[in-house]
Amino acid sequence: MSSETCAVCGGQFPFDSTVHLLVHTNSEEGAFDYYVCRSCYEEELAPLVA
Ligand SMILES: [Zn+2]
Repeated sequence: MSSETCAVCGGQFPFDSTVHLLVHTNSEEGAFDYYVCRSCYEEELAPLVA
């Protein structure tokens, strides 16, 4: 089973325990995607989108 690295805490988590984020930028880089674990998502990101 594959695992993903959390972009916030750097830990390794099973794919099912991560949240996939896709971020669009205004630069030439366009969009990039990354994964965060659920605890980091809830602590760091959920308040931002609530
Ligand atoms: Zn994390």
